[in-house]
Amino acid sequence: MNDLLRLSSGKTAPGVAKQGRLILKPDNCIGCRTCELACSLVHIDGAQLGLSRIHIHPVGQDRYIQATCLQCAEAACEKVCPTEALRRNEETGAIEVNAHRCIGCGLCATVCPFGHMHFDKTQGLPIKCDLCGGAPTCAAFCPNDALEVR
Ligand code: SF4
Ligand code: SF4
Repeated sequence: MNDLLRLSSGKTAPGVAKQGRLILKPDNCIGCRTCELACSLVHIDGAQLGLSRIHIHPVGQDRYIQATCLQCAEAACEKVCPTEALRRNEETGAIEVNAHRCIGCGLCATVCPFGHMHFDKTQGLPIKCDLCGGAPTCAAFCPNDALEVR
């Protein structure tokens, strides 16, 4: 098994890449959605929270979880892609979409076991976290230290 993603609870999630870990700390999340706003602003024209690469889900009173790509070491999306449009950036560890190779089949979004890859039907492209080239914008703008890069 490859490297582990360490969660704020102290537990680990298997199969996560070594580089560019985005550590999710739901205990600190206040549900402000600043991360969604920042993400959508850097990835698309205009702020569209629905097209953010990170999503905030309320799970109880004043409790939230952050959902985003885990950059799995054994990535189902990368394996299923018929055109090799998904490749890992060896510097950042992020699996990135090559829009020129993508044929918009949507298979990658279908096979993600966590449901963390989405599909932009307007552009015909998958939507996934690319770790912003190694310096995730969501973490930079989080006001409560709920996202951390290690
Ligand atoms: S910016 Fe930070 S505190 Fe606000 S919703 Fe996102 S992860 Fe939670
Ligand atoms: S939608 Fe694009 S990136 Fe996803 S599997 Fe199909 S060709 Fe590959």
